[in-house]
Amino acid sequence: MPNCPNCNSKDVVKNGFIHNGNQNHKCKACGRQFVEAPRQKLISEETKALIDKLLLEKIPLAGIARVCDVSETWLQNYVNRKYEAIPQQVNVSAKKKED
Ligand SMILES: [Zn+2]
Repeated sequence: MPNCPNCNSKDVVKNGFIHNGNQNHKCKACGRQFVEAPRQKLISEETKALIDKLLLEKIPLAGIARVCDVSETWLQNYVNRKYEAIPQQVNVSAKKKED
């Protein structure tokens, strides 16, 4: 049984299933309901390459997620990571530290 993501309690019980069939849990300590880390589907390199292309076409993430059969959450994280990895060149003229 997973720990509660809210209070990290182990006092967690199964609480039915959510709409997509994933197991739902409920924390008896704080009452928080949660689904264990969503099914980690392995995203192939081909799919990522396709996503990269679609991103360049300025297609909304929701559309890309549908076409590539990935979750919007995953896609959002993927995009965030991608742009974090690109060095930011906007803050070149950052103020010098004055002390
Ligand atoms: Zn809890």
